[in-house]
Amino acid sequence: MRLTDDRYAGERRQFELALRMIGHEARTRTIRECTGLSDDRIRKLYTTYFRNSGNAVVKRRRGKSPRQITRYVKSPENQLQSTTLVALYNAGLLLRIDADDKVHACWPRPDVEFGHRLCRAFETYLLLHKNARLSFEWAWNLLHCIAFNDELYLAVCDRCDARYVQDAYALDQRCCPACTIEAARAPQRALPSS
Ligand SMILES: [Zn+2]
Repeated sequence: MRLTDDRYAGERRQFELALRMIGHEARTRTIRECTGLSDDRIRKLYTTYFRNSGNAVVKRRRGKSPRQITRYVKSPENQLQSTTLVALYNAGLLLRIDADDKVHACWPRPDVEFGHRLCRAFETYLLLHKNARLSFEWAWNLLHCIAFNDELYLAVCDRCDARYVQDAYALDQRCCPACTIEAARAPQRALPSS
């Protein structure tokens, strides 16, 4: 009996995660990787809970996730939002940042717990940034990209000592996105009121 209960609880968590991820417009492949559910079951969940629910807002995404890292750094605002996500991943123990600011993945392979933590981080990010520029799939890829310590890394701001997501192949001004945005606003404030 106990075994059946455990199995039921396990399946329930899988389904809850699938629905949570479909709500964020995650791709079928991403949902499959985290939940372990087959494409067919994911399709059925989507059809049952979303397509016929009158909720036309949720779209089903197919194919591969987007990959270009420029999305994360193309403007100070994007850079700030990427940095928020990395901080949330760190807080959710999805990754670890060592004393040299190197990023380490904490989850050897995606599973249900990983998926729920990722959803929690993404939902917090949406609360913090009203004009969110990164979709769930971009957030998912950021987690992987930053852990490679290859094209993206954590740079240090000379002004405020904060860490921020930076393109490894771009010139680093050693100024974090928050300080950059602040500096851009400052001249306007300094203008005389007359
Ligand atoms: Zn700064």
